[in-house]
Parts: sequence; C-alpha cells; structure tokens
Amino acid sequence: MNILMVGAGFSCAVIGRELANAGHSVTLVEQRDHIAGNCHTERDPDTGVMVHVYGPHIFHTDDREVWDYVGHFSRFMPYVNRVKSTVGGRVYLLPINLHTINQFFGTTLRPEEAREFIESQAATDIDQPSTFEEQGMRFVGADLYKAFFHGYTKKQWGCDPSELPASILKRLPVRFNYNDNYFFHRFQGMPEHGYTALVEGILDHPRMQVHLNTPFDPAMARDYDHVFYSGPLDGYFDYSEGRLGYRTLDFERFTHDGDYQGCAVMNYGDEAVPYTRITEHKHFSPWEEHRASVCYREYSRACGPDDIPYYPIRLVNEKAMLSRYVAKAEGSEGVTFVGRLGTYRYLDMDVTIREALDSARAFLDHEARGEPQPAFFTRPL
Ligand code: UDP
Repeated sequence: MNILMVGAGFSCAVIGRELANAGHSVTLVEQRDHIAGNCHTERDPDTGVMVHVYGPHIFHTDDREVWDYVGHFSRFMPYVNRVKSTVGGRVYLLPINLHTINQFFGTTLRPEEAREFIESQAATDIDQPSTFEEQGMRFVGADLYKAFFHGYTKKQWGCDPSELPASILKRLPVRFNYNDNYFFHRFQGMPEHGYTALVEGILDHPRMQVHLNTPFDPAMARDYDHVFYSGPLDGYFDYSEGRLGYRTLDFERFTHDGDYQGCAVMNYGDEAVPYTRITEHKHFSPWEEHRASVCYREYSRACGPDDIPYYPIRLVNEKAMLSRYVAKAEGSEGVTFVGRLGTYRYLDMDVTIREALDSARAFLDHEARGEPQPAFFTRPL
C-alpha cells in the first residue's frame, strides 16, 4: 500500500516506520521546515547549548517496550527532572514532598507526622474530587494548594481551576519523603543528541520519504491508499464546527554568561508574576559542559488562528464541539486521526509512542483481515 503520513512528530514517525517495516511505502509531509514537531531540539550556534525550541521535553515512562523502542534510535543519557518553585519570595522543591512541607510550614515533621498533618489540612468533606481545585484542596489542603497550584494553574490555563478537570493535577504526585524526582516512572532520560536526532533515526528507512515545508492538502489523499493525519482535528474539517480551544506558549528567550538559575526548571507559583516558569536549557543536558546559557521565560495564553497549539483545553464546550468533529471523522473514509492534535488530548511522549505502536499493529491486523480502517484507534472522547 501507499500510505501518506501528515506531520513529522512522534505519532506519524513511529506509525510510518512500523508500516514501512511491514513492507508499505510511506510518504510523510510536514509543513514546518524541521521534523520532530514540538519536541524539536536545535543546538544554539553561539553557546553550543541543545535548545528545546518549543519548550522542555523530558522522556519518562513505565512502559518497557516504549523505552526499548526509543533506546534503539538514540542513546539515552541519565536525567532526573527536579523542579523548583518560587513562591512568595522563597524557593521550594516540587513535587510537594516532605522537604516542601517542612520548609513551607517551618516544621520538622517525619513522614507519618506529615501525612497526618496534611490530612488535617485537607478538605476531607470532598469525597470524589472532580475539578482541579477540589483535587488540590482534598489532597494538600488550602495553604499548599493556593501557594503552588492556584496561581500557576490560572496562568497556565487562563481560567479558574474550579473549571478544570481533576485529571490535570493527578499528573503530579505528593510525597511524604525527601524524594524530589518530578516523575514516578521507572525510566527517565534525555536522548543524547536531542529529540530531532531521535526522530530522524525513526524516519530513516528506505521505504520512507519525508517532505518538509509541505502543508497537507486534501487533494493529496487521492494518490494514496490511506492517510494518517496528526494535525489538528478541527483543521482537517476547515473548522466547520468552530475552533477547539488550545493554549499556546510564548517564549522570551535570553542568554546569560554563566549559570542563570542553577536548575533546568524554575516554576513561579505567584499569580502576579506573569510567566509560569523559566527553563535553562543547558541543565537538560547535564552530561555536557557549557559556560554560557540559553533560557526561556514561558508565558501561556489562548491560542489564536495563527499560533502553534500546545495544550488542548477540553472544557465542557470543547467536549461538545469535539463530539461533532468525532462524528465527522467517523464519517470520513481513508483517514485515521492520531496523536495530540489529531485526537485533541494532552499526551506525554511515551503515551504518544505507545499509541502509535498499537495503532500500527491494529492497522496491519485490519489490513490482514480485509476490514476497513477506523477513523480513530484511540477515540478522543
Ligand atoms: N501545576 C501547578 N503548579 C506547578 C506545576 C504544575 O499548578 O508548579 C499544575 C498546572 O495546572 C499544570 C499541571 O499541574 O498544567 C500539570 O503540570 P506538569 O508539570 O505536568 O505540566 P507540563 O510540564 O506538561 O506543562
């Protein structure tokens, strides 16, 4: 079969590679002038620092197959994400752990004491937290919630945390020990030469062709047996049902002669500080040595028609619109929607790769049984 892949991020790179391995001919079109989507990394010519051009990406997973898969295309270097947060003129460790609790309350609690203390602070009357705010109040209590989550989340999502789903906060652990590893996954690291080199490795197959600077045009589909589309779902239908809500990011880039903040990620919990965080990119490659530094001050805002979409918002009105797009997609033939933009979901890289591997397998199974290919292997609803 001749397959067209739209977008050169992890989804289409991995699916394309698996289908090429299975003997199909794969053509991939990408509208930007580089591969790897928002994971794109580029070495800054002046400082030599590997820059995460569209903001920081840290690879972490519990999925052994996914970890082995990426490890096949790039050596992974040890990296543990340890995030700090500046709140009210003080620096604390995230995720909230025993150190954060003791610093914040000026205590010397041991693990069990801290657990009891936090439970006494928590809004125990909230049985089943359904919003971000309820989740925060239930699990850490009002003081920690306000300091670390309320302001940051308002800046990040542009709405009140009482309008956001609890699932966003469930991404972050709370620990009653001194472990300040931001993630709880078994495997964590950074590709030695950046994410673009990793995706380049995935795309390097004799039956795969990549065309950069090539926006997708529906007329292209005629020349192919099937299309995998990883662009925005609403964009595929010319926004006929309206625009799905996204947050976009603005990065204020600056350089510094030396070590600017001493860590990779410094969050700013205070609502009065207009940015959410500052990232210092040389600290994402701790095995490299650079004197000068490249930093990004990160601002979040509503995504306009000409902006790059980052985070799907998925509030109630988006969900209703989303279901209309899903129905349209399910009525279309010869196209499957994949990835963060194609299925309008907040996906980490490892989950994206897991779904891509599963989608490629399901596609090959459908093909072997002579069944039509579905619009979604993972439904966005
Ligand atoms: N969050 C917060 N304060 C922080 C860090 C995170 O309130 O200091 C909230 C915020 O709503 C964010 C969510 O937790 O969107 C998930 O955080 P994560 O660090 O996973 O976000 P990402 O790195 O994907 O932007």
